[in-house]
Amino acid sequence: MSNEINSSNFIKNIIMDDLASGKHKDIITRFPPEPNGYLHIGHAKSILLNFGLANEFKGKTHLRFDDTNPVKEDTEYVESIKEDVKWLGGNWDNLFFASDYFGEMYNRAFLLIKKGKAYVCDLTPEEAKEYRGTLTQPGKESPYRDRSVEENLDLFERMKNGEFADGKKVLRAKIDMSSPNINMRDPIIYRISHTTHHNTGDKWCIYPMYDFAHPLEDAIEHVTHSICTLEFEDHRPLYEWVVRECEMDCTPRQIEFARLNMTNTVMSKRLLKQLVDEKIVDGWDDPRMPTISGLRRKGCTPEAIRNFCIAIGVAKSNSIVDSQMLDYFVREDLQPKVPLAMAVLKPLKLIITNYPEDATEMLEIENNANDESQGTRLVPFSKELYIEREDFMENPPKKYFRLFPGNEVRLKGAYFVRCNDIIKDENGEVLEIHCSYDPETKCGSGFTGRKVKGTIHWVDASSCIPAEFRFYEPLILDDAPENEGRHFLEQINPNSIEVLQGFIEPTAFKDAKPQDRFQMIRNGFFNVDTKYTTVDKLVFNRIVSLKSSFKLS
Ligand code: ATP
Ligand code: MG
Repeated sequence: MSNEINSSNFIKNIIMDDLASGKHKDIITRFPPEPNGYLHIGHAKSILLNFGLANEFKGKTHLRFDDTNPVKEDTEYVESIKEDVKWLGGNWDNLFFASDYFGEMYNRAFLLIKKGKAYVCDLTPEEAKEYRGTLTQPGKESPYRDRSVEENLDLFERMKNGEFADGKKVLRAKIDMSSPNINMRDPIIYRISHTTHHNTGDKWCIYPMYDFAHPLEDAIEHVTHSICTLEFEDHRPLYEWVVRECEMDCTPRQIEFARLNMTNTVMSKRLLKQLVDEKIVDGWDDPRMPTISGLRRKGCTPEAIRNFCIAIGVAKSNSIVDSQMLDYFVREDLQPKVPLAMAVLKPLKLIITNYPEDATEMLEIENNANDESQGTRLVPFSKELYIEREDFMENPPKKYFRLFPGNEVRLKGAYFVRCNDIIKDENGEVLEIHCSYDPETKCGSGFTGRKVKGTIHWVDASSCIPAEFRFYEPLILDDAPENEGRHFLEQINPNSIEVLQGFIEPTAFKDAKPQDRFQMIRNGFFNVDTKYTTVDKLVFNRIVSLKSSFKLS
């Protein structure tokens, strides 16, 4: 994996200092997703950072499933996450499950109780909330705080043995109810949940809380630099407390960085799951989703995602990135790689009245105007063609250089044609246009007799193939959908998808298979959809437009 993501960032500087001072000989980072949904583009930033740092400093990266909350977790998510990390180029040195450490975590909690640093508390959730205090008011100590070590050990074991119902008891760290940091006010470290776990089945009915489990997981794996997002900054004192009081033999350093937020996008597995569950999208990999699988299905490349993440960099303050910036990097990446082809999305019949009946000629057309090495292909041409409806106007404005009555244009890679006649239906809708062609003007013949200002693309009507084209707009209308207490489901764009039925030229798409990408002249970059394409019909997703007014500042 490329190292460029790290080109000078504050985390890299910390690591360099730690290596220079001898604090660490080797570094270990980790990417620790909870398997409660599919990964999104925000996770890509974290993946590229963690894997990139380990790679650059010849260290190791762990893929660790942070699976301590069985209610929301599933093996489907585990599998999808592995696939997505691999697709982004992340080769983990070790694959771990936090649930494999449940035994060790239980022992460490036991140790805390023995040291008088944890107690079993029977307050109801409502009472606990009241006792917690607020940002301006200190909390109150729980009446259960002074239980004896023996009683706590006994109760904790009985919690483990399933003697109590969910929510009846919790294990809390005994820290400081008057701490200005609410996270330090005797946080819950174990709760009861009689739920089957995707990995440990029914072995456990108590599960550790994130703030207790995560530092232990890092320490057990000897992670040196534990990188997380800024919301966890206030949890860092607790992270350090857990590692210290549990007497772990390694002290990972938690470092926070700004999470990625994008305009017109929700960036949380929990919210994305709602879109899936409410069938607003056709699955986690719907091309409108900001998930890695959605971006992949839509035709986005891992290189584009990487370049995007490099460009946004690693910062210490949160900001919102324009979603068009990702499109920009996709376009940049595809431009030189993807072959050109002709497709007509909103077809209008064009008949060349002076072209011989039943004749077809094969025209040689280049595959990528920017790259000769991609060669040429032979495209059939005959009397009846389709052009884009918008490439013809009966009453054109000034500076319209495409087809209109009396005007001559070049058909891409073929001949000049002049529009002589229009056939309309009873409603006045243009049905077909009749043109004449000039055989002398054949492309490549060196004809210099006269010039035309417009070139339009086309497909041959007798040999073209019907195809479907799916265009996407942002799924969410609002720039910052989660702001100001609004519910993002109220911001869904009702027009986020447009489906067109058109035609493709036969040659370029002969062997097209799902995921193949094409640059359709004037219409954009497309790929073949994996879900809707059948043996009978190619369905294309528009990946990005060919051009955009977006500028990288
Ligand atoms: P979600 O709300 O989407 O579930 P999360 O932070 O709970 O996100 P985890 O599965 O716990 O997701 O995250 C795995 C790693 O990915 C964490 O280290 C987290 O900090 C990082 N991460 C998650 N979202 C983003 C984001 N938007 N930008 C950068 N990193 C992120
Ligand atoms: Mg989460």
